[in-house]
Amino acid sequence: TYVIAQPCVDLKDRACVEECPVDCIYEGKRMLYIHPDECVDCGACEPVCPVEAIFYEDDVPEEWKGYYQANVDFFDDL
Ligand code: SF4
Repeated sequence: TYVIAQPCVDLKDRACVEECPVDCIYEGKRMLYIHPDECVDCGACEPVCPVEAIFYEDDVPEEWKGYYQANVDFFDDL
C-alpha cells in the first residue's frame, strides 16, 4: 500500500484524490489517508502530491514510519 505522511497534515491538497483510480483516499480531520486494503499500488497518487507526502510503504522515510500505523488505525477506528 501507499502511505500518506506528515507533509499532508493541515494541508490536504487533495490532488491525489483526483488521481486515484479506485477512490481509496479518504479525508480525516487533519490529513488524508489511503485505505491499505483498497490501494492497488498503482503509484498514480505519488507524483501529483505538491508536497511529496506520499510514499510506497517500504519507502516511507524513517522519521515518518509511524504514519503507516496511523493510516491503518484510522480505518480500524471507522
Ligand atoms: Fe490510489 Fe494508486 Fe495511490 Fe493506491 S497507489 S492510493 S490505488 S492512486
